Amino acid sequence: MKVLSADELLTVWEQGLNQPLLRRALILLAAAFPEIPPDNLAQMSIGQRDGLLMQLRECLFGQALLNTAVCPECAERLEWQNLLSDFLLSPDQTKAPLHKAQLHEFDLDTGGYQLLFRLPNSLDIAAVINSHHLQEQQLHQLQPQQRQLLSRCLLKIEQEGNGCDFEELPDAVLQTLSARLEALDPQADIRLNLTCPECAHEWTVLFDIASFLWTEVNDWSERMLQTVYQLAAAYGWSEQEILRLSPVRRQLYLGLMGA
Ligand SMILES: [Zn+2]
Repeated sequence: MKVLSADELLTVWEQGLNQPLLRRALILLAAAFPEIPPDNLAQMSIGQRDGLLMQLRECLFGQALLNTAVCPECAERLEWQNLLSDFLLSPDQTKAPLHKAQLHEFDLDTGGYQLLFRLPNSLDIAAVINSHHLQEQQLHQLQPQQRQLLSRCLLKIEQEGNGCDFEELPDAVLQTLSARLEALDPQADIRLNLTCPECAHEWTVLFDIASFLWTEVNDWSERMLQTVYQLAAAYGWSEQEILRLSPVRRQLYLGLMGA
């Protein structure tokens, strides 16, 4: 992984500004992992992709995550801290050889059907979202959009040695396949169980590193541009000169302006 400079991170942010979240995640990863071909990034399973986003987040902003949620029953606001390592289920998974194009294929024999499949990747999610205008988070029930996702991931369908169509598969088979996909890519689906301290209501939230990290990069970029503006106005330095300063020096010079 490459350590991004202030200038590089601002450039990545600018490239991602008018893009959907899935593209933003891939743009961030392409900048931070130039050793991985962009096609491979897009074809990674969501869990593998999220593992890399977590590595990038640790490099940019550290291990500690401040999370917030609002209780759906009483509207109490919860705030708690996690460590990224709490969510990184299997570091080995993200350290798999990513440099050569590779497609992991899996078998499933259920209900008299023999299936060959792969894990969903960013391209699959993008295709399903584009055709249904849905959020990535809503893809975990067996809805038309999930049927479409499963159909994209199926490489071969056979019944007793004869080929058959996706449409012929009974729901029970699709449910089993769906459960296998989740079990094979646990990093793709990080859920947190919350209990409201006020009313004791219990519920589950999804932790989505892509949107979490993008929000942080966006906040950081807006603060950085503000800093550049202030220092340029006060000292007459160029944007590049200011971005090349270490964070400590930028802070010190900002502090001196008020002195
Ligand atoms: Zn509550």
